[in-house]
Amino acid sequence: MDTILVVNAGSSSVKFQVFAVEGEGRLRRQLKGQMDGIGSRPRLRASGSSGEPAADRAYPIETVADVPAAMSVAGAWLRDELNIKPVAVGHRVVHGGPDHARPVLIDPAVVTRLERYAPLAPLHQPHNLAPIKSLLTNFPGLPQVACFDTAFHRDHHPLADHYAVPHALYDEGIRRYGFHGLSYEYVSKRLPQVAPEIAGGRIIVAHLGSGASMCAIKAGKSVESTMGFTALDGLAMGTRPGQIDPGVVLYMIALKGMSVSQVQDFLYRDCGLKGLSGVSNDMRELEASADPRAAFAIDYFVYRIGLNVGMLAAAMEGLDGFVFTAGIGENSASIRGRVAERLAWLGAALDPVENAKHATRISRSGSRIPVYVVPTDEELMIAQHTLTLLMNQQSPNPNRERVS
Ligand code: ADP
Repeated sequence: MDTILVVNAGSSSVKFQVFAVEGEGRLRRQLKGQMDGIGSRPRLRASGSSGEPAADRAYPIETVADVPAAMSVAGAWLRDELNIKPVAVGHRVVHGGPDHARPVLIDPAVVTRLERYAPLAPLHQPHNLAPIKSLLTNFPGLPQVACFDTAFHRDHHPLADHYAVPHALYDEGIRRYGFHGLSYEYVSKRLPQVAPEIAGGRIIVAHLGSGASMCAIKAGKSVESTMGFTALDGLAMGTRPGQIDPGVVLYMIALKGMSVSQVQDFLYRDCGLKGLSGVSNDMRELEASADPRAAFAIDYFVYRIGLNVGMLAAAMEGLDGFVFTAGIGENSASIRGRVAERLAWLGAALDPVENAKHATRISRSGSRIPVYVVPTDEELMIAQHTLTLLMNQQSPNPNRERVS
């Protein structure tokens, strides 16, 4: 059976999933795995479609010293031990830059172009591209597709896409890109099935995970995001501060003498829920903690979500529905309840029983703003894009859309 491999590579881990291609382009998840501890304590873990363990093995550090090595060890395991030989590979790539509003079939020219966006996402882009480059070298005939976290937001109105800086900076790429686009695209595509009453309207989707953002979606299209040039902006996150006056950064440099890399580490790793609580970046630990600073961090997280809802509703000139997704949004009834209280002035009223059950629709029947929980599936979105591009590529139709 044909399979598609989905790869999500970060600095210290490579996550992957395998999807079987069934009739009429349907996809069935077969396997999930990850190689983590790259360069420190490499470990391959994988599970099958029902969660049954498929692998858990440690490797010596020298065999998995970097992301390409992790990809090749995981790839060899899939190929040699499970006989999985994917017909195509779909990659999560954080930055598609100004030009990519949809996924793209990869060739060396595309890689060169995507490398140019590395300065726009220095912590992610090089790691996303590393397995792409090693697969291009080792399996040049294997179709690969890049799916971007920015693509879903590329049709924003120029007012939403600009900072108030000189146009020359906009032209060189300083724009409000927005992220988590694969998650928003997936949720937006699910809405007609799970929430038809709001699917065509003005909705806010809150992707609340370790990274957190919200997206204003009007008739299925992104019109505004809480994130901007990088994934630092917007809501407070596990370890990132969210919106912060750039004057604070200047202060850190000028008065505290911090270097660029120290400021970068600080903003990406030491702020957000972790910095505010001093306890943890993990919402479960904060919810379980008796430390008043943990409670304050949660209060702050919820407060900023409320503020940003106002901003996104203003961008759409109204609100017809609200959707929670990602780790916190899908699993924490308590955070959903607290956020909904902040939406009461807009007319949202949760049904506590449905909320506690993690039902799909968690608002009361009379709630002016229906509220939903829609589990996200970025990997399935990537697999679907990959399959679509693969079928376009193989299609004999000469009028098919060009993809690069
Ligand atoms: P990412 O994919 O960005 O790493 P996730 O979407 O998996 O993040 O979300 C991780 C966050 O979800 C963590 O803060 C974790 O504590 C939180 N989370 C997961 N399950 C629960 C739960 N049952 N209650 C509260 N928070 C949860």
